[in-house]
Amino acid sequence: MNDVLVVGAGPTGLLLATELVLAGANVVLVDRAAERSGQSKALSLQPRSVEILHSRGLLGPLLEHAPRLPAGHFAGLPVPLDYTALDTRFPYQLGIPQLRIEQELEDQLAAEGVVLRRGLELTGLRQDEAGVVAAFADGTTIPAGWIVGCDGARSAVRKLAGIDFPGRDGRFSAVVADVVISGIEPDWALPSLVPRDGAVMTMVPLEDGVHRALFTGPEQQNLPKDQPVTPAEVASALQAWYGEDVVLRELRYGSRFTDAARQADRYRVGRVFVAGDAAHVHSPTGGQGMNLGLQDAFNLGWKLGAVVRGEAGEDLLDSYHDERHPAGVAVLANTRAQGVLMVPDDDVACLRETFVDLLGVPEANRRLAGVISGVGLAYAAGEHPLVGRRMPDLTLPDGTTVAERLRGGRHVLLDSAVDGELPAARILVRPDGYVRWATDDAESEVPEFPGVRVTMGQLSR
Ligand SMILES: Cc1cc2nc3c(=O)[nH]c(=O)nc-3n(C[C@H](O)[C@H](O)[C@H](O)COP(=O)(O)OP(=O)(O)OC[C@H]3O[C@@H](n4cnc5c(N)ncnc54)[C@H](O)[C@@H]3O)c2cc1C
Repeated sequence: MNDVLVVGAGPTGLLLATELVLAGANVVLVDRAAERSGQSKALSLQPRSVEILHSRGLLGPLLEHAPRLPAGHFAGLPVPLDYTALDTRFPYQLGIPQLRIEQELEDQLAAEGVVLRRGLELTGLRQDEAGVVAAFADGTTIPAGWIVGCDGARSAVRKLAGIDFPGRDGRFSAVVADVVISGIEPDWALPSLVPRDGAVMTMVPLEDGVHRALFTGPEQQNLPKDQPVTPAEVASALQAWYGEDVVLRELRYGSRFTDAARQADRYRVGRVFVAGDAAHVHSPTGGQGMNLGLQDAFNLGWKLGAVVRGEAGEDLLDSYHDERHPAGVAVLANTRAQGVLMVPDDDVACLRETFVDLLGVPEANRRLAGVISGVGLAYAAGEHPLVGRRMPDLTLPDGTTVAERLRGGRHVLLDSAVDGELPAARILVRPDGYVRWATDDAESEVPEFPGVRVTMGQLSR
């Protein structure tokens, strides 16, 4: 029987499958789409996602030619979030479209012998103590020990497992459109989301003279989400914002999105998990959705791997919900707060001014930069103040870095006697880069953790 069935080959499912393979699990990855749409929703990676891909050696080919933006934004306010103040090797967003990340991960899996099985739409699911059996629209059934729903916002896995998805529907509807235009040269540094006459428009340059327009206005609010985006609608929005000179030459792709905010109330039910958009949806403001999903995958992968290998008990898997649900709560909260700041209202304009003022304070700016970049996230604290925190990617005396030592996807034990100056005498780093245990006492032995086997005081599993 397969160890794990991953349903959905978006960024979350692909990274999870990669992690599981690295952990030695036998993985099946399926997706209902016969082929990729060819469009990228997300256009960039936040610093924490850059870090996690780097720690598996997955960044190399993606890093080349990718533009670096040393800033994030909060609600499109005109004061950038200064990423250069963050304690990371990658103090910038990397302009890598979602599609390219997906393709790279898929190639990586293929090289490991995992072929993505396309055209399989999950329609049925049952589980018992021994495992799960998934049923697909074409009559295929696949048994597995565990199943992870990475199948997006309308997740079939989530629904079939009876996991609730509380929250609220969208309050606004907006359009994302990849366009070729002439007549104006949009001035873009950071997206400007400040409303004007009840509308918002921002334009981001893509490759080959294509721009991405994100806009909303009164007309969009009354259109159903599945209503096709037409050239006439896009041209009229562009002209209302930029004036009569702008000409829409081509509409390459257009779709609608909302600021619906919903989150699965449980990330695990027995042998079933949800991750990525299947576990949470929110407005794309700030560019956090794909990043949140990648980090769900990175949190679950090593844990499920350790259980599949028989090295950890199943209770380790509950920590996936315990750690990642609050991370999702935090992103839903900050995207909703950003949504409020974008409301076209005179009083909200005063709130925006207050925020603009506060973002000029370095400490406040750094705090929000940590939130949006993902670098500021910490899990539950432990006895030592480092526990639950992200381990900085230090360069060690032997010339290696913490990230390089994590490449194999196993726990790493750092010891100041060998590894030089560290923030504690001994530090046990989890495969996902967070500190599991630390001590200031150089004589202290590493306690037993399920799924962790320390070898030679250096490397552990
Ligand atoms: C306009 C817009 C801009 C965005 N910009 C950013 C950004 O800048 N930065 C950022 O981090 N995020 C951004 N996001 C969010 C990001 O795109 C998503 O969070 C991300 O795609 C989620 O990845 P996922 O793998 O969880 O789900 P998805 O990408 O939705 O993938 C789910 C997969 O599951 C498959 N599937 C669905 N149902 C089934 C089924 N029943 N059986 C089998 N397969 C199934 C689908 O075919 C799909 O391939 C943006 C989103 C939008 C709409």
